[in-house]
Amino acid sequence: MKLSIFLSTTFRALPLAGSLLVNSCTAQESTFRIVDKPIVFDEERKQLSLEYLAQRHGIQQAEPFIKPKMIVLHWTAIPTLDATFDIFNPSVLPGRTELQSASRLNTSVPFVVDRDGTIFRLLPDTTFARHCIGLNYCAIGIENVGNNDLTEAQLKANIQLIRYLKSHYKDIEYLIGHYEYKDFIGTPLWKETDPNYLTGKTDPGKAFMQKVRTRLKDLNLKGSPAQTE
Ligand SMILES: [Zn+2]
Repeated sequence: MKLSIFLSTTFRALPLAGSLLVNSCTAQESTFRIVDKPIVFDEERKQLSLEYLAQRHGIQQAEPFIKPKMIVLHWTAIPTLDATFDIFNPSVLPGRTELQSASRLNTSVPFVVDRDGTIFRLLPDTTFARHCIGLNYCAIGIENVGNNDLTEAQLKANIQLIRYLKSHYKDIEYLIGHYEYKDFIGTPLWKETDPNYLTGKTDPGKAFMQKVRTRLKDLNLKGSPAQTE
């Protein structure tokens, strides 16, 4: 993409406004950056987020922020960053679907990783976002643009981003793929008021999760309760 080419060629010369530079522990990760690309977070999205917290998770709070305990990885099943941004940008979920009957709050995540590994931040790290039934109230979501064809650059970016999040939010204990979320039903972490509100997920694929976990072993993050590795 033109934007990311511009960023990577100019990055070493000067930090750009709107990007965050993070010092990492290895030379390989020294170019890690996050590019802010905010979606709408207006009063309506705030109120719908508080309503979701109350009605779906059973949690009353005054501000739409989370205390992260978990990171959930996804793939978008949408082929481009622009199309992904346009899906997450509106505050209200379009159309009439099973999702809309559960809440009018649109889906979103704080982070989207593009095909070339560029990390975009759509919302401040700990803003409440609807991306994983039962666990949104404690989970930071990372979407990867693509399907079962995620790239090596995306793998590297996920690893850097997870390291950044774990170093900033010490209470993060779990790292899961979206397809593993139902394994938390019946555990103290699961908070969803309707036991029938569940959707089938396969993202971001077992192979991708295995690669991420192998390269993040030193963080000692837990997987789903059903994970046997
Ligand atoms: Zn997902």
